[in-house]
Order: sequence, then C-alpha cells, then structure tokens
Amino acid sequence: MAETNTTTAAANAVAAASDCGLRPSLCVARDVGGMLRDSGLRPTRQRIALGRLLYAKGDRHVTAEILHEEAMRARVPVSLATVYNTLHQFTEVGLLRELAVDGSKTWFDTNVTEHHHFLVEDDNKLFDIPGAHVSVDRLPDIPDGMEISRVDVVVRLRRKA
Ligand SMILES: [Zn+2]
Repeated sequence: MAETNTTTAAANAVAAASDCGLRPSLCVARDVGGMLRDSGLRPTRQRIALGRLLYAKGDRHVTAEILHEEAMRARVPVSLATVYNTLHQFTEVGLLRELAVDGSKTWFDTNVTEHHHFLVEDDNKLFDIPGAHVSVDRLPDIPDGMEISRVDVVVRLRRKA
C-alpha cells in the first residue's frame, strides 16, 4: 500500500514538473525560488514575494496596479515601479504572458499557454475563453521576412441595455 502511494506521489510530481514550463501556476506556488532559478532569474526576496502572490491562486490575470495593491495588503514593501519591472522580467523569461488589451493597461497572465480572452468593459475584467473556441479565418498577408508570433483575440463584452 505504502509503495502504491509513493508511486502515485512520484507520478504526480513528474506530471507537475512537466506542466511547469507552460503553466507556472500549476506548480509554482510550492517553490517560487526554484521556478525563478530555473528561469534564470535571481530569486530575490521581492521576486519571491511577488511570485507567491501571483501564482498562489491558480491561473489569473493581473495589472501592475492590482498586484501592487495585493502586495500592500500582504505587507510586502514594494513600489509600483518595482512591481511593474518584476512583471516585465517574469514575462521576458516566459513565466507570464503580456496582454495589451487597450492602450492604457497592460495585463499579465499566469497561464502562458495559447488562449483567448473575454473583456467585460464595464468592470474592466478579463477572463479566459473556455476551450479553444475561437477561429480566425482570414489573416492578412504579412510582410516579407516576418512570421506570425501569435494571434491574441480579445472579445469585448458589455451588459445589454
Ligand atoms: Zn488568460
């Protein structure tokens, strides 16, 4: 019996580890320091504190302002500028995906797999479109020497009058 449990635990650990690359939130809450080191970022106290806030709640979407507010509430002493820089550093090493939804706000997504979003304009709330139920039929010709890196679809919603 004990052996079965050990095997299961090992299998789970392997599953979690293999998901880490694309879904940091699935595995990181346990070891933010290790995740940062694996990504080539020095695990400073601030990065670890912000990483814990970011990844402890599963897949989510934050702006620098939202995360800064959470840090204040958790008594993590960081400036908004530091939060902003940290979010960009995490994005550069692939731990976050940046979503430019409109000109004034940059969202960061802990789920870095390919997916699309609904935006509720009234509430300024962003959430995933479940499954892969978006197809883009026609894309424009792209300039010579370029390739499409990815296509982000944001479906904007508002409440019916
Ligand atoms: Zn998302």
